Amino acid sequence: MSLFGTNGVRGIANEELTAEMALDLGRVIATLKPGRIAVACDTRLSSFMLKSAVLAGIMSAGSDAIDLGIAPTPALQFYAKNNRIAGVVVTASHNPREYNGIKFVQENGAEFFREMDEESEKIYNSKTFKIARWNEVGTLLRDECIEPYVSAIAESVDFDKKFRVVVDCGNGAGSLTTPEILKRLDCEVLGINCNLDGRFPARNPEPVEKELGLLKKTVVEFRADLGVAHDGDADRAVFVDEKGEFVSEDAMLALMAKHYVEKNGGGIVVTPVSSSRCVEDAVEEAGGEVVYTAVGSPVVAKVMMEKKAIFGGEGNGGLIFPEHLLARDGGMSVVKVLEIMYETGKSISELISEIPKYYMLKGKVECRNKEKVLRELRKMFPDANHVDGARIDYEDGWLLIRPSGTEPIARIYAEGKTKQRAEELYREGQSILKSILG
Ligand code: MG
Repeated sequence: MSLFGTNGVRGIANEELTAEMALDLGRVIATLKPGRIAVACDTRLSSFMLKSAVLAGIMSAGSDAIDLGIAPTPALQFYAKNNRIAGVVVTASHNPREYNGIKFVQENGAEFFREMDEESEKIYNSKTFKIARWNEVGTLLRDECIEPYVSAIAESVDFDKKFRVVVDCGNGAGSLTTPEILKRLDCEVLGINCNLDGRFPARNPEPVEKELGLLKKTVVEFRADLGVAHDGDADRAVFVDEKGEFVSEDAMLALMAKHYVEKNGGGIVVTPVSSSRCVEDAVEEAGGEVVYTAVGSPVVAKVMMEKKAIFGGEGNGGLIFPEHLLARDGGMSVVKVLEIMYETGKSISELISEIPKYYMLKGKVECRNKEKVLRELRKMFPDANHVDGARIDYEDGWLLIRPSGTEPIARIYAEGKTKQRAEELYREGQSILKSILG
């Protein structure tokens, strides 16, 4: 079992992710990226403990550690990019309260790519990180990354409409940034759960629809134009329309992709193979092209860089605006949605209704032989997209079979123009796996 998952190291604090591990991970990044390294954390109860250990590890390896305190992940990433230094975020993003995580950031602001995590893991496991002599240990510096991030986002858009927005930060790090960004844009802002609290008393850090009842209700009562909710580290944003209805993340991804392609007169949009067909439909209709990647935001960012993409994102509310930052950014997502509403003069529900509708089903089955499944899928479907499992596209839908890299399961995704078609494709996925696994 590998230490680094899709988004760095994650686990239950003080059990699976300990202060000792955080200390060594601090040494690992200082070995790979010596100099000055910035560190920030989310609001979790274990975050200060783990952040202190990371800071100590960095200094013990001879680098200077910059403590940025509590900040959204994209604010730390923006700071790293502007100062051309590596960074570390202590966060478990959307995971439940008891979890925490450690994620490394490159000097360009992007998360560590897969091969960089693998190199980090080698150094961690072999303990071949640097330990500085007594008189060469690093020092502790303090700085802040909130203001530069807030002002850059507020200055990146231009509209003179007084939007009413309800913001639910879920007591996470976004409380420090999104309400302030919107105030600077002269919006009327009503914040709920915008006090920092690592117990997450109001809701789980993951902004799923069933957790957002208060947001929906408040949007309607406040007669707001838009409702937004972040995950714990505010790199993701999900939305509620002016009627209090939850907006599908896939439809939002498609809407934003379309906006970028239209503004740019074409261009490449990057998204994982698990994303809804509505993204491809919207992008192609606007004259752009979709490039599919494996699942996970670091690989989306990497391919965006290689292909010089104009926009990218995942179907979970993680949107990437490369002119600003090569990483998911919840704060930027909010202002970009308002920009679309301003430029089109349409409400968010109208805009979303213009996005093609599909039905998606997701599930998993037991699978203990990943290699065999991948090999057989290649034989059975030579024309499918094999970037991550096999995505088989049909006229009226698609099917993705994706064995997990970390668990003994295979995931099935099926999407169709109708619910029946999605169900039919899902059953097809089950029977393909059955024929392979016996
Ligand atoms: Mg997150």
